[in-house]
Amino acid sequence: MQQLLPVMVATPAYSRISGPLVYQSEQLLPPGTLVRVPLGQRETLGLVWPGQAPALPDPMQIKPLTEALTGIPVLSAKWLDLMTFAASYYQRSIGEFAIGSLPPQLRDVSQLQLARKLNKRNKLGTTTHAAAPAVSLPALTPEQSLVLARMAQEPGPFVLHGNTGSGKTEVYLRRAAELLTADEQAQVLMLVPEINLTPQLEERVRARFAHLGEGAIVSMHSGMTPAQRLNSWLSAHTGQARLVLGTRLAVLASIPHLKLIVVDEEHDPSYKQQEGARYSARDLAVYRGQLEGAQVILGSATPSLESWHHSRAPVAGEAAPRYVRLSMPSRIGSGQLPMLRRVDMGKQPRKTLVSAPLLDAMRERIAKREQVLVLLNRRGYAPVLHCTACGWKSECPHCSAYRVFHKSDRSLRCHHCSLTQPVPRACPSCGNQDIGALGHGTERIEEHLAELLHDMKRPDGMPLRIARIDADTTRGKGELVRQLAEVHDGDVDVLVGTQMVAKGHDFRRVTLVAALNPDGALFSADFRAPERLFALLLQAAGRAGRDATLTREEPCEMWVQTFHPAHPLFESLKQHDFAGFAAQQLTERSQAGLPPFSFQALLRAEARTQEAAQAFLNAANDSGQAWLQTQGLSVTIYPAVPMSLQRIANVERSQMLVEAHSRRALQTFLSHWQQDLQDLRNQHKAVIRWAMDVDPLVI
Ligand code: ADP
Ligand code: ZN
Ligand code: ZN
Repeated sequence: MQQLLPVMVATPAYSRISGPLVYQSEQLLPPGTLVRVPLGQRETLGLVWPGQAPALPDPMQIKPLTEALTGIPVLSAKWLDLMTFAASYYQRSIGEFAIGSLPPQLRDVSQLQLARKLNKRNKLGTTTHAAAPAVSLPALTPEQSLVLARMAQEPGPFVLHGNTGSGKTEVYLRRAAELLTADEQAQVLMLVPEINLTPQLEERVRARFAHLGEGAIVSMHSGMTPAQRLNSWLSAHTGQARLVLGTRLAVLASIPHLKLIVVDEEHDPSYKQQEGARYSARDLAVYRGQLEGAQVILGSATPSLESWHHSRAPVAGEAAPRYVRLSMPSRIGSGQLPMLRRVDMGKQPRKTLVSAPLLDAMRERIAKREQVLVLLNRRGYAPVLHCTACGWKSECPHCSAYRVFHKSDRSLRCHHCSLTQPVPRACPSCGNQDIGALGHGTERIEEHLAELLHDMKRPDGMPLRIARIDADTTRGKGELVRQLAEVHDGDVDVLVGTQMVAKGHDFRRVTLVAALNPDGALFSADFRAPERLFALLLQAAGRAGRDATLTREEPCEMWVQTFHPAHPLFESLKQHDFAGFAAQQLTERSQAGLPPFSFQALLRAEARTQEAAQAFLNAANDSGQAWLQTQGLSVTIYPAVPMSLQRIANVERSQMLVEAHSRRALQTFLSHWQQDLQDLRNQHKAVIRWAMDVDPLVI
């Protein structure tokens, strides 16, 4: 008998087909079965979906499915639920989310290849009844014991707040060990923000859980080959992998016996996918934990203000906060937290880049063979090139941005559309030979420091080594790891870098960290800028000076050059007082009605002209307002505005903010609006693309 099956396929974003398609099958296949089906001219991967196949007017037109991948266990009902929720919350089609989160190679491999892979996995084997680990574990600190006791008693989700070095990772590993021992099928998911951090974590996890067998630990991130990704996914999906370590995409993996999800550095913006389906892996982790009965731990030295707010102390008579906050204020070992030094740039000679007191402090450290880390959030040599005669500037012809001067290859590069041209010998506008660099990037600071320190030698008479790490120096595969290794080996005296170096890397011999020009974030239009700056500075400071062999009379130092030395952010930083900083920020956010006290979504549109992009948004605004009035729903739609980076590669960009005081009101509105937007899109043919960003991180 022929069966009619509902099958979900990867329909394009915002396509009209949002539900499953119907195919014929010889067998009745359970929901969650992976299948291959014809779609138009091609064949595509699909998922048998729960529910009845909708009745179609002409059953003769229903095509048979090509094959069912019956060698793979079906995807669980809970996983299908997770996809349904994520698609609905982030305003995408279920097919796009579900098929998009499967390893790409699953679309191409044959049944036979799959069978072979699965066979190989089974031979690898894992030991479920393994003896306790042979490694001797450190005795827990009282703070760690307390935290673990709470985790054993309460469901969570937990916000684990502790500085770098307070022993959070040890807590993750112990909690994982408890759950893995209690249930021989249990699986654990650990998320880190950056690909570069997975090897570090993997090494530690492998050392701790070696007794579980070779195949019990897998990684998942976008830097893996398609074959590796498929292998890891199959391991997790078949239950063989007991620990899955990965970046944000791993939160969507099928992990049928999930008992614990750890989100390390939970505040990190990398957890938010910034294109396509713009999901937050942290937020989905919390939802998934609840759905699958897995405990969730969100760890950070500087939790996101959302997580901090949701884990506030309970107040009698009010609804209980959603998360439980656990703190580990102490650092393990002798490592002290660095002292903050502020240089008032208003009292320095004009145009000072590296102030005299900072330079002196750097010299002292270098003389003792300690290392210095200098942070600047701009790569390249100078952000703008300009002509002193006619005022010409190195604008990008295709973007509303300047092309950045890179001295190493004497190029002008647009960091947005990648247009790269040689630096002109004379001003393209007036022919003047005197064109100069405006402002400073990492390349220029590196050069400047080399001049300032040219008289210094190492104690052994060797010249100083000043290195730079940013997106330009680390393009090649493995470059970042290699360059960081040089720093670790002590081969570098001064390291100049963008924020990418501050994330998660241990700088054990670094005893001085300097932020040259962090003021931009204090008064930014982006209300999350101070939060990010505080996290960056505290994180950078926390990574420094943890080498026990350093004999130091003075503690490590964090230097900040600023025109606003009395700014409350720096006061809190000086006290290492995240709680104080968070309280002050949350007060401001509450007064301004910003997240986490409101919920936001951004509708963005791109077109050849700003008018065309805005016309679409304005029409969307009108239809949205009209519907909101009929519903009496309290949702605010703001007027359309050009994005702060208005034009990229000759495409005009515009956006419109939607805000509500209740998440439910916002969600109700968005799911209705979706249909309007698709209709409007067809009327506004000049719109190249549009996108919805729910809970946007950058506005
Ligand atoms: P975090 O994740 O908060 O940065 P870690 O768990 O990595 O902290 O701990 C910092 C350092 O202290 C690591 O080298 C770790 O091995 C060590 N450590 C953690 N817990 C203990 C403990 N209870 N006793 C001794 N050393 C510990
Ligand atoms: Zn000129
Ligand atoms: Zn450009």
